[in-house]
Amino acid sequence: MENLKFEEMNLSDELVRAVRDMGFEEATPIQSQAISIIMEGRDIIGQSQTGTGKTAAFGLPCLEMLDPDDKGLQALILCPTRELAIQVSEEFRKFLKYKENIKVLPIYGGQPIDRQIAALKKGVQVIIGTPGRVMDHMRRHTLKMGTVKYVVLDEADEMLDMGFRDDIEAIMLKIPEERQTVMFSATMSQDILDLSKRYMNDPEYIKVTRKELTVPSIEQVYFDVKEKTKLDALCRVIDMYGPKLSIVFCNTKKRVDEVVEQLQGRGYFAEALHGDLKQPQRDKVMQKFRNGTIEILVATDVAARGIDVDDVDIVFNYDVPQDDEYYVHRIGRTGRAGKSGKAFTFVVGKEIYKLRDIMRYTKTKIVQQKLPTLSDIEEIKTANFLENVKDVIDEGGLGKYVDIITNMVNDEDVAATDIAAALLKISLSDLISTDMDDINLGGTEIYGDSGDDTVRLFINAGKKNKIRAKDIVGAFAGEAGIPGNVIGHIDIYDDYTFVDVPAEYAKDIMVAMKNNRIKNKKVNIEIAKKK
Ligand code: ADP
Ligand code: MG
Repeated sequence: MENLKFEEMNLSDELVRAVRDMGFEEATPIQSQAISIIMEGRDIIGQSQTGTGKTAAFGLPCLEMLDPDDKGLQALILCPTRELAIQVSEEFRKFLKYKENIKVLPIYGGQPIDRQIAALKKGVQVIIGTPGRVMDHMRRHTLKMGTVKYVVLDEADEMLDMGFRDDIEAIMLKIPEERQTVMFSATMSQDILDLSKRYMNDPEYIKVTRKELTVPSIEQVYFDVKEKTKLDALCRVIDMYGPKLSIVFCNTKKRVDEVVEQLQGRGYFAEALHGDLKQPQRDKVMQKFRNGTIEILVATDVAARGIDVDDVDIVFNYDVPQDDEYYVHRIGRTGRAGKSGKAFTFVVGKEIYKLRDIMRYTKTKIVQQKLPTLSDIEEIKTANFLENVKDVIDEGGLGKYVDIITNMVNDEDVAATDIAAALLKISLSDLISTDMDDINLGGTEIYGDSGDDTVRLFINAGKKNKIRAKDIVGAFAGEAGIPGNVIGHIDIYDDYTFVDVPAEYAKDIMVAMKNNRIKNKKVNIEIAKKK
């Protein structure tokens, strides 16, 4: 079953907004399955591992079903420990951000009982408590169960392990039978089933298990990097391998935006894919990725789910994924349809432990590799270029050029090898020099933001002229002699392009580009009007 969006679950707008504020992009599997069944009023037993979001799975429907006008106690959540009771009640308070008319109170041992009694007297609709302390209040008649309609046994396996069975039974017997009873547990046992038989009404059993993981046979490598130089490392690896299509995974939306901006600032063709994009925007990004207009897609895990592109050469884990399963999902984006793929993970400091976890979980070996050096990159680019030269020779039809060179050899008295070497040097400096500049920089402050000392230039050429950010950085750096790394944001449209540059360079660029071309096109550059 697909994970649902919270908007799709008949929850009130107040709860959906609160959950969005908490940063939940979509419901987890146990939430997707449990919430609608609970809202139908059915008893359920939900089983899934720790950390899978069971609190919201019972909490959201509970808060949805309560009657805010009824000030009596309506819901009782039993938790094994004081920590869990506090945690659950904090999560409930966050859910109630926009629903202020519901009172929730945690009660647990260790807190003065007088204070709890005073709080209870003010009227509470939801109690989240440990069985021992709840029993205590029942005995004192400070807690009356006669109005309770919704009961949750959270972490039931733990409560039984801790010897709360008698307390739980005593409490259940005091609660009217026409209640709804919901039980959540990470594991199942005969004891739990017995308990459910006795106190639940024909419960639906929901189990979410970890899928068996099949890791595709692709090359998996990690690089040990510093946070500050991660972007440099990424750029180097991209330059080294020259992937046609790659996906860079980050753990948060904010991070995605940062990485995209920095990559674009360095002249790479990158765009973001994350949950803030509306469907039409997403479709557009994906279409550009498929047709190669974008070479690098920077994405969050959730946004990238369901991406269906067969030719992804490399998957980068810019951040080590938080969840083992995410790792498998991520790298599964490459090496599809029988093609070979690579998965590269950047590891900072202690994150290596997380990566070891992932290796254990996926039963694969991810080997460490040294970052390519600048001379590695030069070497590979030279080799690729020479490959290209050979292809052009094989293609033939060079007569006109052979004549030019022959003339030069005869007239200028230079050797053909020297001419070839000079041409190689010129070509390689185009390929390498701007990248080299960039690579020596730290990951931040590459572009001068849009403060007053930044000027936006308008260029009367764009995508239709096959201009890419790289070409602009190359031209500005090569012809106008400005450092490639100070060039800021580049926005390329069909017929024109905007480039942010530091004000001090604007004039030089405009003058230099009067006599030069970008991608063989004569262009006109002027200062753009303010946005
Ligand atoms: P469990 O009870 O299954 O161990 P919790 O309910 O304590 O899990 O949730 C674990 C963490 O996951 C909490 O920090 C919670 O806020 C977060 N969480 C829950 N649901 C989601 C969701 N849909 N998206 C993102 N984070 C979630
Ligand atoms: Mg829990």
